[in-house]
Amino acid sequence: MGELSVATPIDTMELRALLSAAAGPVNFIGGGTDMLIAGRTMPTGGLLIDLSRMAGMAFISADDGGIRIGGATTVAAIAGHRGLATRLPALAEAAAQCGSVQIRNRATIGGNVANAAPAADLVPVLVAAKARLGCIGRDGASRELAICDYAPDRGYLIAEVILPGDGLLPCSAFVKLGPRQALSISRLNIALLAEFQDGRFGDVRMAAGALGPRPLRLPLAEASLAGKKLERAVLREFLSALAAEVDAAIPGRNSQVYKRRAIAGLGLDLVAQALGLSPRGQLFEDAAE
Ligand SMILES: Cc1cc2nc3c(=O)[nH]c(=O)nc-3n(C[C@H](O)[C@H](O)[C@H](O)COP(=O)(O)OP(=O)(O)OC[C@H]3O[C@@H](n4cnc5c(N)ncnc54)[C@H](O)[C@@H]3O)c2cc1C
Repeated sequence: MGELSVATPIDTMELRALLSAAAGPVNFIGGGTDMLIAGRTMPTGGLLIDLSRMAGMAFISADDGGIRIGGATTVAAIAGHRGLATRLPALAEAAAQCGSVQIRNRATIGGNVANAAPAADLVPVLVAAKARLGCIGRDGASRELAICDYAPDRGYLIAEVILPGDGLLPCSAFVKLGPRQALSISRLNIALLAEFQDGRFGDVRMAAGALGPRPLRLPLAEASLAGKKLERAVLREFLSALAAEVDAAIPGRNSQVYKRRAIAGLGLDLVAQALGLSPRGQLFEDAAE
């Protein structure tokens, strides 16, 4: 493989030229919070492209047409962006719960997706919002793909994350369960996007992390709420559906019993948060009994 060389391109033109000219393996580094920890995934040869100085890869635009986020945008910038907090609160919340201040200041959205950890906190929100990724391939050419079709081993650079306006729903929330209050990798995380009007759900989309090798949609739980009135019986159905999702995702695993129970509390918190209600309200207390 030869020695490791590092390049720090400053714009897309230089980056594309580097990609097309590289003969051996190419890797990227964003904030380095996954790559540099204990040298876990640190490449030992080939070309390492440092994205930290790339102009135009760290930005957020959120308007009626949708949301676009540059691949090198930090998690801290996502957590603190006002437009995002209004348009897709679940993503701002997921970012706010990602690691510590120091981690959020370095970690990028591109790294969170590309690292492909089962418990990556931003990914369930992106999956539920039907995100698309604007990528640059080894040949220097641009291509766009659905987040569910992204495979880290193809070597694509994630230049931007695109959240089309029609994939966003007015209510959204993100909750996670970790071993500690701060700095914890999720044991379970869930995102919800929903329409809700006059006490009734419309379209509902949900995705969970740490229930399989990658975050997945929860079709049973979605169907248990979609089109239904917010009432105790519906929430009870929702809790049964969540337990069924866990059974289907991790049958026979040691964590199955624990996650079956844990997802009930998380699910009620998630719905309450998305609708701006207190999870301690009577309706949620009754549903949990
Ligand atoms: C103490 C600690 C706490 C953490 N807590 C959390 C947490 O609560 N929630 C959570 O989700 N994660 C957490 N993480 C993991 C990590 O911080 C995130 O996954 C982060 O978003 C990774 O981004 P990065 O830019 O640092 O990635 P890097 O380490 O730079 O890269 C990670 C991988 O992604 C690739 N990559 C990076 N950028 C791109 C790109 N634009 N296109 C293609 N490939 C790319 C790299 O080649 C590498 O393989 C934690 C990590 C630590 C060390």
